[in-house]
Amino acid sequence: MTTDGAATRLVVLGAGPGGYPAAFLAAEMGMDVTLVDVEANPGGVCLYRGCIPSKTLLHVAHVLDMAEQVTEFGVDFAEPSVDLDRLREGKDRVVAKMTSGLGQLSRARKVNYVQGRGRFVDAHTLRVANDSELTDVHFDHAIIATGSVPAIPRALQIDSPRVWDSTAALELELVPERLLVVGGGYIGLELGSVYAALGSAVTIVEMTGGLLPGADRDLVAVVQKRVTERVEQILLNTTVVSLEESSEGIAATLSGVETENERREFDRVLVAVGRRPNAGDLGLESLAVTVNERGFIETDVQRRTGEPSIFAIGDVAGEPMLAHKATHEARTAVEAIAGEPSAFAPAAIPAVVFTDPELAWTGLTETEARMQGIDIEVSSFPWGASGRATTIGRNDGVTKLILEPGTERVLGVGIAGSGAGELIAEATLAVEMGARADDLRLTIHAHPTLSETVMEAAELFFNTSPHYIGRRR
Ligand code: NAD
Repeated sequence: MTTDGAATRLVVLGAGPGGYPAAFLAAEMGMDVTLVDVEANPGGVCLYRGCIPSKTLLHVAHVLDMAEQVTEFGVDFAEPSVDLDRLREGKDRVVAKMTSGLGQLSRARKVNYVQGRGRFVDAHTLRVANDSELTDVHFDHAIIATGSVPAIPRALQIDSPRVWDSTAALELELVPERLLVVGGGYIGLELGSVYAALGSAVTIVEMTGGLLPGADRDLVAVVQKRVTERVEQILLNTTVVSLEESSEGIAATLSGVETENERREFDRVLVAVGRRPNAGDLGLESLAVTVNERGFIETDVQRRTGEPSIFAIGDVAGEPMLAHKATHEARTAVEAIAGEPSAFAPAAIPAVVFTDPELAWTGLTETEARMQGIDIEVSSFPWGASGRATTIGRNDGVTKLILEPGTERVLGVGIAGSGAGELIAEATLAVEMGARADDLRLTIHAHPTLSETVMEAAELFFNTSPHYIGRRR
């Protein structure tokens, strides 16, 4: 709040999972809030063309897979028929319901929502342009939450509607017979899985030696095994040298161990090789805001930029580019603006890849520990010994604790298996609360649930797991 008693004027640029929680919290705290976005309602990439539509489609893909899998229990369904128009409408309905809901919440909180594209004029003025007018919004503080956009390398930038980014892939224009997915990261695997379930022959090309670079290899192996069964081919250590329109679709020249300058035809190509922050064309040049060489806006622990009145959160302010990290930063920035001693210092940020099975981790990973020379103890519980996993026919999983030697404190947890994205919540709480392996094993977990694997991994650490004989590694 300003000293003269008037409410602090806050403008939030970008209404995604960073921007809208910032605006809503600030409004609840009594600030005079303007939220600016090009869309008619809050939601950002996550709701309009990211997390929410992709998870809707992944849900459908999962049901298709389950229908196939249940044959092992003697239930046979007829071949599914997918009505693409209705699937698209269903997905769009989910998006519309959630974004319009956020619009209502915004109005109920008396947030001044301005639709348009914002650009800073100076350290206290944002100019918003839409089709009909220019509006200057004067502010005491601003939060930049403009997110990121798909990055397309120059070699793959050809002017063809057959080359998709994640936004185009989520449009569900058609189910291509042959789909090339460039990039074996989050988006490549998630959307590649969707199209594979819908019937495309999917080829995934990954530049590095493994899928999901950075994630622990033992966990990736669980996912890779099943994804391999679902897709046509996974080509590692391979790059796409060029793409060209051809009479049949898109001709891709692949270069790798198995494909030395090999030309292959595809009907569509999905490029999913990362995202880049949206810090350009915001008028930052004339301000003391620093944009680093990777395009991220630099901030301090409160998410304040070099310009004292301006903060930055979410994808535009650095990795990991995850919606929930943006939402947490929103709280930090708003509290800092309100004069509270807030800082962004999480012990763990969970990451979830929504493949089937899911892959999730939180806190320190084994890979990070090994790279940084941090001494750790590891306890991995295989889901082959989980009753719940057996009942659902999904013994393909592992729950792994990363513990501090001596103290047995939980530094990190990695889970690969069905529903790992939900299970990681308990693990994140454990890391944040400074729990020890003993806390996990002495907490009663409901039976039969997959959550027991967290407890069992702790039991295994003490060699007291009732269901698994084996020493921790
Ligand atoms: P990513 O960084 O997850 O994966 C990109 C992959 O492409 C990497 O494996 C990389 O090695 C590979 N690659 C890079 N250049 C290549 C090339 N020329 N040829 C072949 N492979 C190449 O990026 P993404 O999948 O585009 O997703 C972007 C970001 O969006 C993610 O980092 C994540 O932060 C976020 N995201 C999160 C979720 C989720 O939380 N479930 C889902 C989707 C996206």
